Amino acid sequence: MGDTRHTKLLIIGSGPAGYTAAVYGARAMLEPLLIQGLQPGGQLTITTEVENWPGDIEVQGPDLMVRMQAHAEAMGAEVIADYITRLDLSKRPFTAAADSGTTYTADAVVLATGAQAKWLDLPSEQKFKGFGVSACATCDGFFYRGRDVVVVGGGNTAMEEAIFLTNFASKVTMVHRRGEFRGERILRDRVAKNPKIQVIWDSEVIEVKGTEAPLGVTAVTLRNVQTGATQDVPCAGLFVAIGHAPASELVKDQLELHNGGYVKVEPGSTRTSIPGVFAAGDLTDHVYRQAVTSAGMGCMAALDAERWLAGQG
Ligand SMILES: Cc1cc2nc3c(=O)[nH]c(=O)nc-3n(C[C@H](O)[C@H](O)[C@H](O)COP(=O)(O)OP(=O)(O)OC[C@H]3O[C@@H](n4cnc5c(N)ncnc54)[C@H](O)[C@@H]3O)c2cc1C
Repeated sequence: MGDTRHTKLLIIGSGPAGYTAAVYGARAMLEPLLIQGLQPGGQLTITTEVENWPGDIEVQGPDLMVRMQAHAEAMGAEVIADYITRLDLSKRPFTAAADSGTTYTADAVVLATGAQAKWLDLPSEQKFKGFGVSACATCDGFFYRGRDVVVVGGGNTAMEEAIFLTNFASKVTMVHRRGEFRGERILRDRVAKNPKIQVIWDSEVIEVKGTEAPLGVTAVTLRNVQTGATQDVPCAGLFVAIGHAPASELVKDQLELHNGGYVKVEPGSTRTSIPGVFAAGDLTDHVYRQAVTSAGMGCMAALDAERWLAGQG
């Protein structure tokens, strides 16, 4: 049997949402415990330059997350390298079983387990991630001013990303495995009318090509799924827009979810369908998915938790 530790506020996840909740929770004297999970620092630790975090004209993602952790700890939060394997929200105190064998019990919980972009799972895609391969046009589009880019995907997100990228790129080539898009009619019309967007149908990316020093993308190789014919499309960036998977596995049978697995919160709050359980960041947000919006929701979650706990006496 492992240890049991009790806390007023358990925060699960160490991205911008979790660390911000920890700063606010600690300053509200809730002595929060934050469990980091398998990716300490969250998604920003797998990117390089971040240019849209207010106050930093440019900051490396991993550096920013080290600073956020230090900030949370300086305010009094305890940051724990552990992974929650099971969460029981059916009775209070809530119970979280961790990989280390420790059981955490908590009066209130902030869920900040984030989301992961879906990737093509090509070794060459992995190699150039952060060096020409991206899953976020809002984050990285600015780096491709006057350059050619390729967007993979056929849903609303792919079309929105392609349209957004035409603000920067000289040409946007969309690659889709099928012969038509799945997304909304209005977006399909906008894509069709945009002179900067070209679509290559019935095709999939089979390889990302590039330079070694500096690491950078120069082309993608496509294969036509009908004929098997291959072609190289020169480009400086590949945007993979085939969806995101929210990390809601722990709560999928306990909390109300929507939009394909995102935790549902009451509008304008972080309150979930169970009182005392709050959700913040990419786990609940299928629209903005940014560090700053996640941090904002982390703040809201800690304030919501603090008020809820005060109401419990
Ligand atoms: C390559 C890349 C580049 C990006 N660039 C930018 C950018 O330039 N600007 C910007 O604003 N946004 C950017 N983003 C988006 C941004 O990273 C996310 O919006 C943000 O990180 C979401 O924060 P979050 O706190 O909700 O969750 P995440 O950052 O996803 O963190 C989730 C955390 O939960 C933990 N966790 C998950 N499951 C468990 C569990 N069972 N137990 C314990 N812990 C768990 C993980 O270990 C992780 O620490 C980028 C994303 C990617 C992938």
